[in-house]
Amino acid sequence: MPIEFSFTPDQEAFRQAARAFLEREVAPVVGEMDEREEFPKESIARLRAEGYFGIPIPEKYGGLGLGKVGYCIFLEELGRIDASHGTIVGAHTSLGTTPLLYYGTEEQKRRWLVPAARGERLLAYSLTEPGSGSDSGSVHTRATPKGDRWVLEGTKIYVSNGREADTVVVMAANDPAKGPNGGVTAFLVDTDSAGFRVGRCEKKMGLHGTSTAELILDRVEVGPEAVLGGVGKGFLVAMTALDVGRVSLGAASLGGMAAAAGQALEFAQNRSQFGHPLSDYEAIQFKLADMAMKIQALRYLVYHAAQHQDDLGTDPGAWPRGARAEKTREASIVKCLASEWSGEVIDAALQIHGGLGYIRGTPIERAYRDQRITEIFEGTNEIQRLVIARDLLSRGL
Ligand SMILES: Cc1cc2nc3c(=O)[nH]c(=O)nc-3n(C[C@H](O)[C@H](O)[C@H](O)COP(=O)(O)OP(=O)(O)OC[C@H]3O[C@@H](n4cnc5c(N)ncnc54)[C@H](O)[C@@H]3O)c2cc1C
Repeated sequence: MPIEFSFTPDQEAFRQAARAFLEREVAPVVGEMDEREEFPKESIARLRAEGYFGIPIPEKYGGLGLGKVGYCIFLEELGRIDASHGTIVGAHTSLGTTPLLYYGTEEQKRRWLVPAARGERLLAYSLTEPGSGSDSGSVHTRATPKGDRWVLEGTKIYVSNGREADTVVVMAANDPAKGPNGGVTAFLVDTDSAGFRVGRCEKKMGLHGTSTAELILDRVEVGPEAVLGGVGKGFLVAMTALDVGRVSLGAASLGGMAAAAGQALEFAQNRSQFGHPLSDYEAIQFKLADMAMKIQALRYLVYHAAQHQDDLGTDPGAWPRGARAEKTREASIVKCLASEWSGEVIDAALQIHGGLGYIRGTPIERAYRDQRITEIFEGTNEIQRLVIARDLLSRGL
């Protein structure tokens, strides 16, 4: 890894183009989307048409071929504007396309990855169940063989994009006694399959533009072509997607906290009390300085991790010994710090806004509600600390 990191002119141009596009196409719809608690169908359709649902996917599979660095640039920009749109893109790209890109056969890539990367089909990822959250290896949804086919039966919960997806990556137990070590398989399930049903969609504190759906698999039958990464390899497939997701969550958090800090800075310079702008007071200056420190530190962490994932490539079989563990630790560190720092920055930014920060419909109020879930989903921060500590205990610092 080089010690210095800088963006190429092409990456800078991509950031500028994305920023202009998002300001024009997404920013205007966010307030109403949040208030109505509706999936932002039209702005998402525009993002899909622009290729933004396949940023890290190679061009030969229908994507933009910009790697994880390009993908994080986009999510940082999107995070500045809206966390719901970021979650929709992330659930599709990090969690939906990564399993296909890293573990799919050529035939699976042609059938599922290409249309997903082109934005023609929406993906979701379904690991969580009522009895299996942090303990994600204890999947109860059953996969029972029927000749060379499989029958899936069970209930999944909290699936982002679950209501709108065309295909869901579903983790199911082919051998519950084996648990995560050989007992879980990833399946590609088209949502128009017989027996597949969307159940309850949750109402939430934030992320009002996203669906968080229960999925019911009532004896859904799939063929052998739906098995992704091999029978019994599903937990590995699921965790590989989360490694990508946790770094991209860091990028989206970076954008969210940078936007909040920018709003706080502007407000502090324009709002006067006791005859001076708020920014004249050290108590406010220190809050702004703390924000800047966290933003700068996180920017290095996110892009270092993204570059590392690009350098490793997408063929897990070719990774050197120890590379997976290192990548996983790095992703957990990014996820944990990004979510907690964004919480601290957005909270301080809200405080600087005074009463206005608490008023429904201001960007800072929405950011405050949207941020909280980042400490919980894609593995809670307690679980990230367990992952980091386990790796420390086995490989050292
Ligand atoms: C808006 C939203 C979107 C989501 N999107 C998806 C999705 O697209 N796909 C998907 O599969 N899932 C999704 N999830 C699920 C999410 O990943 C889980 O909610 C999360 O992993 C936590 O699981 P849980 O809710 O069952 O909490 P639990 O596992 O029950 O944990 C409860 C508390 O106990 C703590 N805890 C648990 N075990 C330990 C331990 N060993 N040591 C210390 N503390 C522990 C946890 O950290 C947490 O604080 C989503 C959830 C939400 C709310």
